[in-house]
Amino acid sequence: MQPKYLFVTGGVVSSLGKGLTTASIGAVLEGMGLKVAILKLDPYLNVDPGTMNPFQHGEVYVTDDGAEADLDLGHYFRFTNAPLTRSANVTSGQIYNSVLRRERKGDYLGQTVQVIPHITDEIKQRILECARQDETTDIVLVEIGGTVGDIESLPILEAIRQFRQQRPGECLNLHLTYVPYLEAAGEVKTKPTQHSVQTLRSIGIIPDIILCRCRTPLSQEIKDKISLFCSVERGAVIDAADVKQTIYELPLRLHEEGIDQLICKLLKLQHCESDLSPWKEIVRKVSHPTNSVTVGVIGKYVTHQDAYKSLYEALNHGAIALGLSLQIKTFEADKVLKDGTVDESLKGCDGYLVPGGFGERGWLGKIESAKYCREKKIPYFGICLGMQALVIEFARNVAGIKEANSTEVDPTTHAPLISLLSEQEGVAELGGTMRLGAYPCLIEEGSRAYSIYGKPKIYERHRHRYEFNNRYTDSLERAGLKFSGLFEERKLVEIAEVEGHPWMIGVQYHPEFLSKPTEPHPLFISFVQAMLDYKTSVNG
Ligand code: GLN
Repeated sequence: MQPKYLFVTGGVVSSLGKGLTTASIGAVLEGMGLKVAILKLDPYLNVDPGTMNPFQHGEVYVTDDGAEADLDLGHYFRFTNAPLTRSANVTSGQIYNSVLRRERKGDYLGQTVQVIPHITDEIKQRILECARQDETTDIVLVEIGGTVGDIESLPILEAIRQFRQQRPGECLNLHLTYVPYLEAAGEVKTKPTQHSVQTLRSIGIIPDIILCRCRTPLSQEIKDKISLFCSVERGAVIDAADVKQTIYELPLRLHEEGIDQLICKLLKLQHCESDLSPWKEIVRKVSHPTNSVTVGVIGKYVTHQDAYKSLYEALNHGAIALGLSLQIKTFEADKVLKDGTVDESLKGCDGYLVPGGFGERGWLGKIESAKYCREKKIPYFGICLGMQALVIEFARNVAGIKEANSTEVDPTTHAPLISLLSEQEGVAELGGTMRLGAYPCLIEEGSRAYSIYGKPKIYERHRHRYEFNNRYTDSLERAGLKFSGLFEERKLVEIAEVEGHPWMIGVQYHPEFLSKPTEPHPLFISFVQAMLDYKTSVNG
């Protein structure tokens, strides 16, 4: 059977939560037993977001096959079981890149290469590729980045218009808009929605469903008005009022609004009751926490709320699994030091996490934070750069390797405990040096990591250049640092744990990319439990 397609566009303003909405629709459809695939089409010209500043673009999400992708793929992962590989995120940069490469090869010889049809054909091809990943796919959700009316998204919208025209009855357009409440007028306003639908129609796309983001549920009168002015069937204007407690409520809200029924009716898919019990259970747990913990996250990009998206979610998953509420306090790593040691303001959390990052800024703050946690026996979780900080701190202050450093920070250090493999092996830079995607890791029996994972072999996703230098394994192990996880094939250290400490673990990979609310990651559950234990021990 040919899959059906649901295109999700956004209007009025950005940051409407299109990714979350698309992911939640995926969850509702999967609840009905449908097989869902999801694709994010991004209009920007970067080939991928890998080189973009997290301050601008938020987190870079990494897939198993090593694609550096838009953070919306993280939402798709957390809400659905859609296959997420590099075919799930396509940027205009990628599209132009392949068309231009073909042009240089002479594939279009004689032709004028143009946006229509060459760029639009390539976009349509990518949509089909995403659909073809699995022949049992029932429905492909295609989220279009940006806001309707942006110049740069025009080729994508044109491709979708053509795609839809070529497949009558198989495609739907859902337009997500914003219906603001004007305090002074004391009412909600539909005009921005009308205008953004007009813009969409002028491009040749007529929305089938209008989903209205709003502060509180819309009255039937307002929905009728939008339906009339936008020429959308009466029952096809639905609202997505702000969720109160957790984003994981969204599938339930959309289901209550009848989105599954609507999609099935319009696409002529068999409708059956969606089983959303896992989401109900999550919301129930969030609403009735038995206790709370506070985690301090010490990073470089903490002022941008999306820069550690998956990490914050994974921490929440751990808390939800244990029936706790979680407070996240963020600290800028370059501001936590006073006279060389951690400032009073840092103190008071039940545990600390140093996430991944790049570059020198805040490096010392991260090392000193690790020292503080080690000495005071406060739970510490180091992820990627956070593991490297743990290792360097331990080497300097416990193993007595005073000059220990990462060559990322000090390329001339005499004790390069963390360095590039090329430096360790004395070979010249080969380019494309980032270790990306899923790698196997063997866990040593009897270690803390083993008791957490409960199995000897795991797969976790990576995104880093620097590695622990095995020349220093023995001296650190003698001093009490255990290297409990290894990528066997190249003997690369994946996990380090401080012996005799209640919970001080660093991992070279990014476990946050593999955590779902319905399948919380064991490391995050264990870390949150350790924070609770710490809190209980301190409070007596
Ligand atoms: N900058 C470090 C490296 O490249 C860590 C990267 C990260 O934390 N993702 O190895």
